[in-house]
Amino acid sequence: MKVGIMGGTFDPIHNGHLILAETVHDKLKLDEILFIPSARPPHKRFRQDIIDPEHRLAMTVLATCSNKNFHVSTIEILRNGPSYAVYTIDELKKIYEFGTEFYFILGSDAAVELYTWHHAQELIEKCNFIVATREGTDFNVEEIEKDFSVKGRIQKIDTPKIEISSTEIREKIKNGQSIKYLVPESVETYIRKENLYEY
Ligand code: ATP
Ligand code: MG
Repeated sequence: MKVGIMGGTFDPIHNGHLILAETVHDKLKLDEILFIPSARPPHKRFRQDIIDPEHRLAMTVLATCSNKNFHVSTIEILRNGPSYAVYTIDELKKIYEFGTEFYFILGSDAAVELYTWHHAQELIEKCNFIVATREGTDFNVEEIEKDFSVKGRIQKIDTPKIEISSTEIREKIKNGQSIKYLVPESVETYIRKENLYEY
């Protein structure tokens, strides 16, 4: 069994996340993709205005429910304490059958910060990393693998460059601009119904 893990704040989830996950699922022939909204993103703990996990979870479910390869996990939201990926992998290893391979999917902006992750060395020894290039952040696989003394653990993936970010979506809503085609329609409907990101 090969499982892709798409972790994020998903504040809100957008088509960039979905296209990345679908591309990785397809190219790497994974069995499923698990979307895991984080409770308290360790690297974003200084951003005070992250919306409630309940809303982020609801939007993640709405965005993924029509894809049979996509599933959503609440393990980070239900766990106490910061959402460290290494603990998440440990928990998933207990849930999935022995021998399941995990593929952590992330953009290069997140990948270049791998050094700062909690117990990064341990994490990189426990799962594979699939990295998509995102504008503004170059990522050298050989360099990073050398630093962590691993080989074949990190893989760059060629994906369509979709330069959408949650930050951009929040800004657009605040400014009264359209977010059509940047998020699934169901997510936009939910955002409007709950008056999210209007401040
Ligand atoms: P924010 O602007 O609030 O930081 P974001 O769009 O970066 O939001 P996150 O929830 O922070 O979304 O991202 C979760 C993961 O998805 C990260 O690994 C990030 O690099 C990746 N990601 C997000 N958007 C894209 C995109 N458009 N293309 C490729 N990877 C992306
Ligand atoms: Mg981000």
